[in-house]
Amino acid sequence: MMEAPRAWEGWSRGALWVLCDYPVLTMGRRLVARTMGWVVIQYHPVTGPTEDHELHHVKQCMLWGPFIIIAYPLASLWAYLKGGDAYSDNWFEKAARRAAGQEV
Ligand SMILES: [Zn+2]
Repeated sequence: MMEAPRAWEGWSRGALWVLCDYPVLTMGRRLVARTMGWVVIQYHPVTGPTEDHELHHVKQCMLWGPFIIIAYPLASLWAYLKGGDAYSDNWFEKAARRAAGQEV
């Protein structure tokens, strides 16, 4: 499997880093960063485990290709139907947290 680009390699590896300074709410949470395919949008500078988390999402996008557009919401729906949280219990999020050494 190809290695995901690191943040500091930025533009040359296809990762676009957009720095914004406003709160964005999604599912009741304040976003720090969001990954969409090869694009990682940062609402605040992201380093360390959070950066690793987002880069794992890049790997997931590489692995799943366009199917992630369906798979991610289905994983949220599945987590919700099982009585969990649509975000934090989403399989993709749990895998990214595990890969980044964050609390699962
Ligand atoms: Zn995530």
